[in-house]
Amino acid sequence: MRIDIITLFPGMLSGFLTESMIGRAREAGLTEIGVHNLREFGVGKWQITDDRPFGGGAGMLMKPEPLCAAIDSVRGEDSLVVYLSPDGEPFDHAMAVEFSRLPHLVLVSGHYEGIDQRVRDSRVDREVSIGDFVLTNGTLPAAVLTDAVVRQIPGVLGTEKSLTQDSFHRNVLGFPQYTRPVEFEGMRVPEVLLSGNHGEIERWRQERALEKTRERRPDLLSNQDT
Ligand code: SAM
Repeated sequence: MRIDIITLFPGMLSGFLTESMIGRAREAGLTEIGVHNLREFGVGKWQITDDRPFGGGAGMLMKPEPLCAAIDSVRGEDSLVVYLSPDGEPFDHAMAVEFSRLPHLVLVSGHYEGIDQRVRDSRVDREVSIGDFVLTNGTLPAAVLTDAVVRQIPGVLGTEKSLTQDSFHRNVLGFPQYTRPVEFEGMRVPEVLLSGNHGEIERWRQERALEKTRERRPDLLSNQDT
């Protein structure tokens, strides 16, 4: 799949795109990620991308012309255009899986007080929030969404089993994990994990995962069929 990110701050993504899992996935050709500097679509000699909001109020708003030109330069018939916004639908695991099956995502990152409503009305297919808080711009939210989506693409993680062990798979949180040494600062790894009995280990993991979910996120358990 391909992801195109439109932002005023492409430099914020340079480490993100080359390091760790995203860097490896790109090198392996499992995903293509394009970053587009909105400034290049700015209006006039000064490449302006913002202006004062009609009706007054605090701060500046992103102008429609640069954003629409940037979106039109990358979107095609099979693209889904997503605007990252605190007032969007809450992003979650199910949405990450859904997006990972699409051929092309265009992620639009806002700044200042947000973007002109006409861009949302004419170009945006989905509006997505990464949480109930407000960040200064949408570049990090676009990176968060990209990371969560790309790790769902087959072949990106070393083993697909990692995905089934993650929190939110089948709406339960992850189970506790341990590695060597067997004893650390007086704390021992639970005996069952050293037993070699795979049935017992699986049962123990499921019980711990359910226990944690009941305690921290009982809301997830009411939706067990996804
Ligand atoms: N005035 C806007 C509001 O209250 O909804 C907030 C604008 S925010 C300061 C600037 C940009 O950051 C937004 O256009 C959006 O792209 C991004 N942003 C901030 N918080 C976000 C969040 N929780 N999820 C997704 N994007 C966010």
